[in-house]
Amino acid sequence: MRGKTVTFRSGETPSRNNPEILLRQLVAIALVSIVAILSLAGYGIYRVYAGQVIANAETLAIHVSEVLVAQERGLLLEKGEDGGIGVVLRSEEIPDLDRRLRRFLRPFSIVKIKIFAADSTIVYSTDASIIGIKDEGNPRLNRALSGQNDSQFVTKDRVLDLAEEQIIDVDVVETYVPIRVGLERVVGAIEIYVDVTGYRQEIREVVTRTVILLGLTLMAVFFCSFLVVRKATLQLKTVQDQLQRLATTDPLTGIFNRREILDRADRELRRIRRSRLRSLENVIGFIMIDIDHFKKINDSFGHQCGDAVLCELARRLKGAVRGYDVIGRYGGEEFLAVLPGASSAKVRAVGLRMLETLAGRPVEVRGQSLSVTGSFGIAVTRTGEDDIEPALRRADAALYRAKMKGRNRVCGAEEGPVRTAVEEGEEETGPEDTL
Ligand code: GH3
Ligand code: MG
Ligand code: MG
Repeated sequence: MRGKTVTFRSGETPSRNNPEILLRQLVAIALVSIVAILSLAGYGIYRVYAGQVIANAETLAIHVSEVLVAQERGLLLEKGEDGGIGVVLRSEEIPDLDRRLRRFLRPFSIVKIKIFAADSTIVYSTDASIIGIKDEGNPRLNRALSGQNDSQFVTKDRVLDLAEEQIIDVDVVETYVPIRVGLERVVGAIEIYVDVTGYRQEIREVVTRTVILLGLTLMAVFFCSFLVVRKATLQLKTVQDQLQRLATTDPLTGIFNRREILDRADRELRRIRRSRLRSLENVIGFIMIDIDHFKKINDSFGHQCGDAVLCELARRLKGAVRGYDVIGRYGGEEFLAVLPGASSAKVRAVGLRMLETLAGRPVEVRGQSLSVTGSFGIAVTRTGEDDIEPALRRADAALYRAKMKGRNRVCGAEEGPVRTAVEEGEEETGPEDTL
């Protein structure tokens, strides 16, 4: 009422970081992490296993070439015209060598073999069509001719194996091995193709099995963690709701407290401002209510009885507003109703309904039947007002006038577009004062 300062608190929008959203984010992060871990683990296992297969094939190729050179040393290595030893093979010697090599290589998973002279000429191959060709500019062969082994994993569409049969879609490890005379001198090279296709399925199975096992383990760990976090989240949410209720409601009457009702009014006004529409619906109506002679109730029947009366009055007032209106306890025995989009006539109609709901029937408390009335000050926001405070001041002033004019009545704002003759000095005839 008049003389009181209308305090206005800007409304705080509810935090978006509520526990449920955090839980959903946790689930999303966990799922992304599981996919990333499984992909990395699968790729890592594949690389390690494939690396092992290549290393084994290289070892096999080196051993085979060592044995081969040792066995055929007399045939392959000859003194040249310059007096140095080199890899030489006469064409009439090739069929015999070919027969021996094929027999020797049969137990191994070797599909092709080439023997190079130091000048990169192919002096022998299980593929006879390439004998005599000079494989110049082959960097891998050059590495071998400079004394280093060189292995590479290759998938080939088709390969002619030692039995002269075409095999398709083959994984081979191609290894170049130097042919040495003594410890240092390299006089040629051998290229051996080891078929490792048999490991393909094995690698696939190992990777799949490991990824499935790891995935199940991660899912189990994640699910258990999720249950724990979810339980904590639900508890947190309950506490948060309780705190929210405590912070927004009046403990005695259970309706909104002063801060919440002002916050809601302020939020509504900001929403209207954002919408930039200034239609009739975009006003907010206020009804300020003060119980008449409440002190007498306390004095006559005790404070507790007064409390019970306040609860009953709050219940009745709440029942009198529309579903989308809000009502709160504004002070000791004062209430404030906020009516979004209510025209002046609508606000007045709701005010009269409230007046009727209080005065219409006595309040039954502790065996006492008490007649209680209230005074009502009503106002609506005006175009251009960026704050609820002016409208609240007008409602407060109107409430003061309702008291002055004898209580148990509804009074409107003194000035503005909804002012009537009654407000300008006409004598009142009853509780239905107008805006
Ligand atoms: P009027 O408004 O008609 O001028 O008379 P009034 O008797 O209601 O006067 P006033 O508004 O000054 O006094 C309000 C009284 O309400 C004073 C205070 O003891 C009482 N009151 C305020 N809060 C509570 C409460 O929570 N419980 C009870 N029982 N009484 C309260
Ligand atoms: Mg009062
Ligand atoms: Mg009062």
